[in-house]
Amino acid sequence: MTARPADYTPALEAAMAHARTWLESVPDRPVPPRRNADELRGAFGETIPDGPSDPGAVIETLGALTDPGLMSIASGRFFGWVMGGTLPAALAADWLVSAWDQNAGMRTATPGVVAAEEAAARWLLDLLGLPEGCDVGFVTGATMANFSCLAAAREQVVADAGWDLPRLGLNGAPRIQVLVGAERHASIDVALRYLGLGAPVVVPADDQGRIEVDALTTFLGARPTIVCLQAGNLHSGAFDPFESAIAAARKHGAWVHIDGAFGLWAGATPTYRHLVDGYHGADSWATDAHKTLNVPYDCGVAIVAHPEPLRNALGVHTSYLISDATGDPLDKVPEMSRRARGVPVWAALRSLGRSGVADLVDRLIHNAGKMAAGLEAIDGVEVLNRVCYTQICFAVGDQERTHAVAKNLLADGATWMSGSSWAHRDVIRVSVSNWSTDDEDIAESIDAVRRAVAATT
Ligand SMILES: *Cc1c(COP(=O)(O)O)cnc(C)c1O
Repeated sequence: MTARPADYTPALEAAMAHARTWLESVPDRPVPPRRNADELRGAFGETIPDGPSDPGAVIETLGALTDPGLMSIASGRFFGWVMGGTLPAALAADWLVSAWDQNAGMRTATPGVVAAEEAAARWLLDLLGLPEGCDVGFVTGATMANFSCLAAAREQVVADAGWDLPRLGLNGAPRIQVLVGAERHASIDVALRYLGLGAPVVVPADDQGRIEVDALTTFLGARPTIVCLQAGNLHSGAFDPFESAIAAARKHGAWVHIDGAFGLWAGATPTYRHLVDGYHGADSWATDAHKTLNVPYDCGVAIVAHPEPLRNALGVHTSYLISDATGDPLDKVPEMSRRARGVPVWAALRSLGRSGVADLVDRLIHNAGKMAAGLEAIDGVEVLNRVCYTQICFAVGDQERTHAVAKNLLADGATWMSGSSWAHRDVIRVSVSNWSTDDEDIAESIDAVRRAVAATT
């Protein structure tokens, strides 16, 4: 069968029409999905169809079946987890990535998208003020970015102790001590599990979830050690004290990794760069582009100051691949084959420019401040964290009432905030991560909380 260009047209046009209908519906539709997965599943078909269907019709059906189950993550009134929406240029670039269908693993094979990703990588390092020579890998998210960075860390700290990890593996290797703050993100633990490093040593954190440097120092010693710090606590938004923590870790030859899934972006704005003071002195950094930068899912970024251990840990060299002497994308990430997910990053950065990225981050932080002030003005609402970035945790009276408010909010549908527990309290979390959130979204969301609270008195 020969594919003719016209074969693609009906399906692409149906997709375009559905995308537009969806995006146009976002400002007015309720934020939560109207049906759950169990309710929707049957309509997609319990059994595989016996024969083919027209591609355009498939897309029509897909659009119609999915719609009632779509969460309006793209809405300016979506504040769940830490997610973010999609910038127009990034979304369209992502479509092109699919249309081009490039396997972005090798420089020689797919130079167009590799060059775009390499430009995006250079721009990122410049924007964030990180060392020029870092390796940058585009992965699915901060979980895999943490994994990739920590794979390099593992490689280096045992090599420093005279152990040839690629040849000998972990069996019999010097024991690696991994130090983490009490409030690190769970994906750090997952990454350590993937790496066979087991559970980390937990260092106490302060009332905002920042690692206690005095306590950290007591754990630092001669053993191969990796220290994981955090830029942006998912509850409080707080940042670890990088300057002092990195200085302490350096003295003992530890590798310092920073999980900055959404917080690393503070480094891209002169107004808030002080939050990450000293972070450039680390050895590796993990971040997401699908959160603060607002590119579509999925896109994380692994940044490593020392290319050699990263490439020793993740690189692939074999006869049928074409290796480039400067290092290929597939040497810097766990995957061999992958989509060119760095291309939407390039498009986002190109459309925003340096000032646009700074404005985006400033606006998120400013909106979080406004939201916190509005919430605090509601009788019974208690904001529990010091709001310094994009995250707010609040409670309303006791646990039961907080749960009731969360339930009312969900039923109301004007806004979406997710529940959690923090500082020994059940809380409602607000993450201001969407580029499109405006004053009206903030005001309407505060009103929704006011209604939800009033309904519980
Ligand atoms: C979201 C998040 C992660 C995990 O990122 P994914 O993109 O979901 O893999 C890791 N660390 C922090 C601090 C996060 O907020």
